[in-house]
Amino acid sequence: MIEVPVDLPGRACRLLAGPGLLAQAGTLCAEAGLHGTCAIITDENVGRLHGAAATQSLATAGFAPRVLTVPAGENSKSLSAAEDLIDRMLDAGLDRGSFVVALGGGVVGDLAGFVAAIYLRGIPCVQIPTSIVAQVDSSVGGKTGVNARAGKNLIGAFHQPRLVLADTLTLETLPDREYREGFAEVIKHSVIRDAAMLEELDPAAPRADLAPLIARNIAIKAAIVSQDEEERTGLRALLNFGHTVGHAIENAAGYGRLLHGEAISLGMYAALFVSEKKYGLPREQADKVRAKLRAYGLPVVLPPDLGTDALLSAMRHDKKFAAGQIRYVVAPHLGEAFVADDVTEDDIRAAIDSLRK
Ligand code: NAD
Repeated sequence: MIEVPVDLPGRACRLLAGPGLLAQAGTLCAEAGLHGTCAIITDENVGRLHGAAATQSLATAGFAPRVLTVPAGENSKSLSAAEDLIDRMLDAGLDRGSFVVALGGGVVGDLAGFVAAIYLRGIPCVQIPTSIVAQVDSSVGGKTGVNARAGKNLIGAFHQPRLVLADTLTLETLPDREYREGFAEVIKHSVIRDAAMLEELDPAAPRADLAPLIARNIAIKAAIVSQDEEERTGLRALLNFGHTVGHAIENAAGYGRLLHGEAISLGMYAALFVSEKKYGLPREQADKVRAKLRAYGLPVVLPPDLGTDALLSAMRHDKKFAAGQIRYVVAPHLGEAFVADDVTEDDIRAAIDSLRK
């Protein structure tokens, strides 16, 4: 088990990665000072595979867990799903001394974290991420939320988890496509902070052995978050590398057609294009990133029905378009990124067009 230090003054937040943490969840929740009833929020896939282990671990440690299941998929990240969960938690008698356990991928983590943030004005949340996306990214940092009709993640709250348990054994059951998409976020971390990690990524590495890699990624995210928790200085915004165009693609394609990481992979191609053309990113460095995205089987060509105008229009609803100004994350070198404020709509148009070749 690897513990990743996190510096969030005044908040108890423990980040752990390793094989077998799910079985220790009860003990670790008790050590974190939690007690009483908890809602294990999960989706139907993860619930079927790992719900019993979570329930048993928590019950053995003296907690009274209730499993609340939502349908798998991005459609569950909605206000109505959150409201339904809250009603079920009220019916089950969860009070201000209770807590939420988010057991699943990023959808469950964002939804359950949001429910924990607003239930009775906020109760603790334990994240047990089971996808690569969730383990290296979404479970860490306290961004929770649901989607609005106008776009992804437009409704939400900052709510730091009390505990994050990234159990690499749970990755054994993750379907191959969902496994591979998660590496888009890992590759993103390489681009913005850790060039050396890119060389070490191996699509054939055994999943149960990934704890050091997961911990390395959690550390990158935690370090950025602890310096700019609520995205005020621009540092946390670096995590949006590839996400401006990526979110627009995800939104315009219709949720579920492209997985989050697949859309982000295309978004990173666009960001590499802009970085190379305008900010001096050396061609061979950009090629290394593109080769790694391809090695994980991530998409390199935009679905032909997604028009450039539709994508630009989806982008205008994005939070990253602050007051109409484009804040676009670029990388002048591998391992280093900044938020540029002089990227134009024409630059983005050209980057999107480059995804059609
Ligand atoms: P997901 O939660 O939909 O999970 C993908 C699929 O894998 C689902 O069908 C799920 O049931 C299944 N699954 C998950 N773990 C499994 C396991 N161990 N075994 C078998 N099946 C398993 O999608 P995701 O890619 O994990 O997360 C994407 C979401 O995360 C998006 O909504 C995105 O916006 C969000 N996100 C949030 C942040 C943040 O900072 N809060 C960061 C990145 C992404």
